Amino acid sequence: MAFSSIIGEKQIKLRLAAEAQRRGSGAYMLSGPEGTGKRMLAEEFAKALMCSDAGPDGACGVCANCKYFDNFTTPDVTRVYEPSETKNVKVDFIKDRVVAESFMKPQFARTKTFIIDFDYLGEESQNALLKSLEEPKKDVVFILTSSNTDNVLDTVMSRVTEIKLDPYSEDELEQIVRKNFPDLEDEKVRSAVYNSGRIPGKALELAGEDSGVSIRHEVNTMMMAMPKSSYIDVLEDFYETVSGFKDDSRIVASSILMFLDDVARLISYPDCRKINNENEREAIENFVAANKHITTIKLGRCSEAVLKFLKALEVNSNFDAAASAMLLRIHKELKK
Ligand SMILES: [Zn+2]
Repeated sequence: MAFSSIIGEKQIKLRLAAEAQRRGSGAYMLSGPEGTGKRMLAEEFAKALMCSDAGPDGACGVCANCKYFDNFTTPDVTRVYEPSETKNVKVDFIKDRVVAESFMKPQFARTKTFIIDFDYLGEESQNALLKSLEEPKKDVVFILTSSNTDNVLDTVMSRVTEIKLDPYSEDELEQIVRKNFPDLEDEKVRSAVYNSGRIPGKALELAGEDSGVSIRHEVNTMMMAMPKSSYIDVLEDFYETVSGFKDDSRIVASSILMFLDDVARLISYPDCRKINNENEREAIENFVAANKHITTIKLGRCSEAVLKFLKALEVNSNFDAAASAMLLRIHKELKK
């Protein structure tokens, strides 16, 4: 993955790739409304800065530094995103993990990079950063993002290079929606784009509502109730959930698989950056914490049951029997 895998923002991508090749130090502020892909660009820019063989399209994707970056194992990149428990990032965190860290030499790459989402920084934290932003050390790059620079101190803005994210064209938005929802009908793609206010995040949200997000939510709720449920619950309530979406059985099956995949990921790598159901991450994390008896082996057996269900549908087997068999198997594996 390099810059070309991100749709749109052509000029900005070229510019960031060039900056990464130049390996200058400095502070950049990527600004633009919610949902314009600031974080994606910030991550890609950071990766290009890490890469030992960055080109005009950014990171090479194959060198050791790129691999560390992909696995979140590089000490040379620090991310300050939304805190889990408080509204804003604590000022002590900024002092210890950013200001103090920025005086250390990078360990693997030639640059030390800090990605900081300013939407979660109060005035005190912003002030704590001023000096670092004014005189960044020569191998340090700050990539800041903000969805509303009115909330950023003027003293910060005067010390950073602001890069405003261009609004996407309708063509680009259509491409983005199609890439994420390849099966969505043309009419629904256009309506999502039309109603999005030119914001990709919004277009995807609208497209998602039209293509199974609510099925996913229902499936997730069902799966999370599985360990505490009885055999009867499965045959009555859960069967009803699944048969209610009979025409969308494939979406149901893939939603179950995505949920199982999320649980497996959170068991093996609790800090993983993205799960399939990122919007329900907290609930799924709680589910994992409350159900330590669920192992990846059990999850594997559940996935097999789902694949069997899909196979049965392909050969037009009896839906009731196939759905019940799948649900009972999943229940057997997940119950407490
Ligand atoms: Zn690389």
